[in-house]
Amino acid sequence: AKSLSRRFIASKPLFGAPSVVQAVNGVDLEIAEGETFAIVGESGCGKSTLARLLSHLIEPSEGTVTYGGREISGLTGSDLRDLRREMQFIFQDPFSSLNPRMTVGALIAEPLRIHRIGTPAEQRAKVAELLRKVGLRAEHADRYPHEFSGGQRQRIGIARALATGPRVVIGDEPVSALDVSIQAQVVNILEDLKDEFGLTLIIIAHDLAVIRHIADRVAVMYLGEIVELGDAAEVFASPAHPYTEALLSAIPIPSTGARKVQTKIEGDPPNPISPPPGCRFHTRCPYAEDRCRTERPALRETAPGRRVACHLAETLSLDGITGTEESR
Ligand code: SF4
Ligand code: MG
Repeated sequence: AKSLSRRFIASKPLFGAPSVVQAVNGVDLEIAEGETFAIVGESGCGKSTLARLLSHLIEPSEGTVTYGGREISGLTGSDLRDLRREMQFIFQDPFSSLNPRMTVGALIAEPLRIHRIGTPAEQRAKVAELLRKVGLRAEHADRYPHEFSGGQRQRIGIARALATGPRVVIGDEPVSALDVSIQAQVVNILEDLKDEFGLTLIIIAHDLAVIRHIADRVAVMYLGEIVELGDAAEVFASPAHPYTEALLSAIPIPSTGARKVQTKIEGDPPNPISPPPGCRFHTRCPYAEDRCRTERPALRETAPGRRVACHLAETLSLDGITGTEESR
């Protein structure tokens, strides 16, 4: 089958489906071939909705999503099947996303059967190869998911996602359900496989620590909007949005387990269906001024490649995390 080129563009504005009102309001972003793009924010911020829009699992009610220069909402038939084959998901909970009655081999081969790729013998060989790629053994194909640990099950989920030879893999909180000690292993596997297969990786996370070492670029979302977007290392070193600073302040220092600084936000985010007026973050922002309560900040370019939605982006001097702190 002919394939779409590996480039994804979501043009402004995108809106969520009616049940997720304003979940991805005014999102405007472009994801390039071969990059690892992270979308971070608290639960309910719209990051999963954004990923579903990108993969055509839901339709934008306004705006467009294009992939390879083509609008994906217009895809049908074999073009839509190609898109599904090229774009695969890894889900948060490896326990619930795997059918317990299917063997590991059948689970990994299922996408191959759905897309009619290869003979049964070729599918078995592919399963064995994929199991080895994720650090498991070919014999594991005959066993059932419950026989494996959480980390191993997520490796099985990764093998399954890679079965069709996708170009884009979307990980929706792929390691959130795992012990911290296992998270790095799974992230490392993802990174290795990304390099090996030339994947474009989109990682959704609520925890910046998870994506810190693998993301090329990061989009920080708050109440359905991107509030900061840029090169991941730059965003980590010098955040320009107070919400990003708050997320970074919650990253534990490895040696002590202590928080870097006191987390600067508290409480749950407001209801995204009726967000606060002005800047949506003003109810939790330690730097809020009068105009923040009435004037909505646009997502604007503050430096090459960096976009920030904060009135004070150029004047605040916010705390980031530098590379040297990693070794502490
Ligand atoms: Fe805080 Fe105002 Fe910036 Fe919003 S616009 S993040 S309330 S300083
Ligand atoms: Mg989610």
